[in-house]
Amino acid sequence: MPKLPILQVALPVPLPHLFDYLAPDDGVAVAFGTRVLVPFGRRNMVGIVVGVADRSEVPEERLLCVSRVLDGGERLLDDRLIDLLRWCWKYYKHAPGDVMASALPPALRKAQGVIPEPPLQYRLTAAGVDRLSMPAGRAPVQYKMLTALSAGPLPAKALAGIGSQWRKTLAALLEQAWVISEPEPPARPVILPGPVLIPDQQDAVNSIAANPKGFACHLLDGVTGSGKTEVYMCLLETVLSEGKQALVLVPEIGLTPQLLRRFKSRLGLDPAVIHSGLSAGERLEAWAAARSGRSALVIGTRSALFTPMPRMGMIILDEEHDASFKQQDGFRYSARDIAVKRALELDIPIVLGSATPSLESLNNAVIGKYKWHRLRERATRAPLPTWRVLDLKQQGTFFGLSATALASIEETLARGEQVIVFLNRRGYAPVLMCQQCGWSGQCERCDAHLTWHRSIGRLFCHHCGSQRPAPGLCPDCRADALVGAGEGTQQLEESLAKRFPDFPVLRFDRDQTSRKGVMDEQLEQVRLADPCLLVGTQMLAKGHHFPGVTLVVIVNIDQALYSADFRALERMGQMILQVAGRAGRMEKAGTVILQTLHPDHKALELLLSQGYEAYARWQLKERQSAGLPPAGHQALLRAEAHDRSLAQKFLDEAADRFPRGPTRVFGPMPAIMERVGGRSRMYLVIQGASRNALHRQVDHWLPELRKLRSGRKVRWAIDVDPQEL
Ligand code: ADP
Ligand code: ZN
Ligand code: ZN
Repeated sequence: MPKLPILQVALPVPLPHLFDYLAPDDGVAVAFGTRVLVPFGRRNMVGIVVGVADRSEVPEERLLCVSRVLDGGERLLDDRLIDLLRWCWKYYKHAPGDVMASALPPALRKAQGVIPEPPLQYRLTAAGVDRLSMPAGRAPVQYKMLTALSAGPLPAKALAGIGSQWRKTLAALLEQAWVISEPEPPARPVILPGPVLIPDQQDAVNSIAANPKGFACHLLDGVTGSGKTEVYMCLLETVLSEGKQALVLVPEIGLTPQLLRRFKSRLGLDPAVIHSGLSAGERLEAWAAARSGRSALVIGTRSALFTPMPRMGMIILDEEHDASFKQQDGFRYSARDIAVKRALELDIPIVLGSATPSLESLNNAVIGKYKWHRLRERATRAPLPTWRVLDLKQQGTFFGLSATALASIEETLARGEQVIVFLNRRGYAPVLMCQQCGWSGQCERCDAHLTWHRSIGRLFCHHCGSQRPAPGLCPDCRADALVGAGEGTQQLEESLAKRFPDFPVLRFDRDQTSRKGVMDEQLEQVRLADPCLLVGTQMLAKGHHFPGVTLVVIVNIDQALYSADFRALERMGQMILQVAGRAGRMEKAGTVILQTLHPDHKALELLLSQGYEAYARWQLKERQSAGLPPAGHQALLRAEAHDRSLAQKFLDEAADRFPRGPTRVFGPMPAIMERVGGRSRMYLVIQGASRNALHRQVDHWLPELRKLRSGRKVRWAIDVDPQEL
């Protein structure tokens, strides 16, 4: 008797391997990418078949049989998607089952989940036409429905208007074979002409569209408002009109109704929208529509990356520098990097767009790996904003706002215009700083700034690990003026409401806008263009058009200037330009006020006088001389525990076992935000010039780590290409 094939199944459990099962013995072959239900421990679990082998390391008598093949044996994921996912679990060193599960809509992670049938439409048959040529007789409603269909096929929802008994009527017509049902054809785009492109836009479109087939990664580097979105539209026009599909990925908070409306009206079709805020049912529908090819355009956030699309012709990733493309827990992947990999495997073009490209992408453009397209001016010809740097040492503040900034706000509102007050609440490392003279701690041994660990009252160097007590008075000017940089803004919103009682103060932050509809309501109010104050965090920096805003005040940036995180300056530059890009996008010129204790800092000087590219190139040089990404490569071994010493012990033992080679290990050190949810977080940095060597060494290291007893008392994980320290 021939032996049954062994199915290698990915199961959603945190174990670093696949599980072997015997194929069902009904003789039906099970293909890769099929969902199966398998016995696992005391229960059944849904898994995906990702391989077939003729032998297993598990002794034959212990192999269990698949309980059931789901979806009638239909393949959910094709070979290429499975190969991509396989690459992901190897590259990111994450449990295969967890990686595979992220490629399925949540509803299909359960056995009950079924792939929705494509929507149907109804068509008149020849017999139906004959019937219509005779009098209505005693079936007026049937006759009415036949008449409605005589102009062409219609979907069920269009027939519902016939009358309350429409389902019965339709059933009768089907029964008589006067009408047949068939799957609805894919929607065809109805493209509206866009504006006449300006030369930079036209050059970018021509150059990208010149090679519609074959892989190429394009960096669309254009200042805010330079018309990048319009370039995407033109490219999509071509791709969609050739009958291909396109995937557009945007940052988490970039997926606004505004943006969707724009795609919809310009391309004349409803995109399938995929993000984590949808219900399981909506997500499943969108996924099925993309997978069946019915939806030509998919727009989504990070989680839409793995959507199966059989006729994929192009990937576009907007705001490619945005940190939300990196998942920060569980399967810690970079949607940007995998999107490039996916385009490479599919041999199609990918466009990465940003006004402030990440240093990784910029570096790839500089060395010629990516094609670099620059849009230098605003498409509407609106001028870029003017800058004012205010030295906070010269003046007192009102909950973080200087007198000069307050006066400018007052004038702007009085002119009937809108103001953004931007609070920088990113998780920067806390820095102790003197409000009087600007002093902040420097490590005596390294060229590094000290991080303030307030709970233990100490200053800590994240490079060498040295520490000392935090001083009570400023070591330089002896003033009793040491506070955490950027603090004292907690009551700013309420204080502004009291200070400007005649104007609405709208708050935009995660707490406020996660309430359903609040964000849209507030955006609607801003669009009315009455004078108001918009107070908020990162959420205000992205994607929105605020035509009425002419003044932006950035309250606190000093934390970023002296952060221990080597990415802090890159992020600060991006953030400043992104927020500034919200101002004066229409006829009126905008002003941006930056408040700082360090008006002479090189970073500010360079960014404001020479622009982002010069700034980014300076940062790239600094990274190169330090061997930091993108010049070098990194991974972190992260560990967390309620008891800091447990995390420390595990990481110490892990560091001792790191294999010899060109890649080095540093630490352990506390995470910049050390305590989160009552747990202490620490990490080791693994860093080297060669990506291959790093992966080789880490792959040898992992089995040793899994053997460590100290590892059972902590939560630990590898973070490849980390974005946060
Ligand atoms: P970005 O995506 O770079 O921020 P958008 O594509 O949103 O820029 O364009 C900014 C504004 O300029 C939008 O209001 C858009 O309609 C308009 N716009 C874009 N391209 C043109 C053009 N070629 N001519 C006139 N207006 C344009
Ligand atoms: Zn001082
Ligand atoms: Zn140091």
